[in-house]
Amino acid sequence: MQPLVIAIDGPAGAGKSTVAQKLAKRLNLAYVDSGATYRAIALKVLECGISSDDAAAVGSTVESTDIRLQAQDSGLRVMLDGRDVTSFIRSPQVTLAAAKVSRLPQVRSKLVALQRTFDRGHGVVMEGRDIGTVVFPEASLKIFLTAGPEERAQRRLSDEREKGRTASLQETAYEIGRRDQLDEERAISPLTAAPDAIIIDSTSLTADQVVDRIIALANERKLL
Ligand code: C5P
Repeated sequence: MQPLVIAIDGPAGAGKSTVAQKLAKRLNLAYVDSGATYRAIALKVLECGISSDDAAAVGSTVESTDIRLQAQDSGLRVMLDGRDVTSFIRSPQVTLAAAKVSRLPQVRSKLVALQRTFDRGHGVVMEGRDIGTVVFPEASLKIFLTAGPEERAQRRLSDEREKGRTASLQETAYEIGRRDQLDEERAISPLTAAPDAIIIDSTSLTADQVVDRIIALANERKLL
């Protein structure tokens, strides 16, 4: 039997990470946050003082960069050239730079190839923007997770506050809107639902209710 690959795509703040982590735990599958790989490259680009718009410089940086994701009890650790950068990749600067470098073909081809190695033949829940369309077009189950813009901004704001950052709802809504626009309008692998994805609007659902719905879908399709 083919290893189970569940792709969860959707816009920022839709709850993909929470849902994907809970789902992976319930199904005993690996969890992969593909956005962390774009964030790691963005961090390196910022640290090297390279402009996110400088395609040639970013392209050569990505070629010489080693990114690894390590599953630990405390969550997924992100290693950049052997250094644990997990706590550095969530800043607003890295977030915006990630959305910019992810438009570059050299970055996408290197990271897509890397992400494909993460299923390791055992099955995976991978979340991102192009998992069902590009990374795993043959995924066993594809979910496109959405939520209303206000709900997404609220969720992102509570995440930010938990991390001790201060931002207003208005700033957060603006940041999410700007990022969605960059992700939806880019020429390669824009954020879009795969034709065979199931769209789940999580606006009035808890993460556990979304997970239950995905497990019900997997059962209906006799994947479990
Ligand atoms: O999911 P996360 O917010 O961490 O992703 C950061 C950025 O990385 C996104 O805004 C998007 O530009 C990029 N990304 C992508 N494709 C993915 C995952 C993330 O382009 N599969």
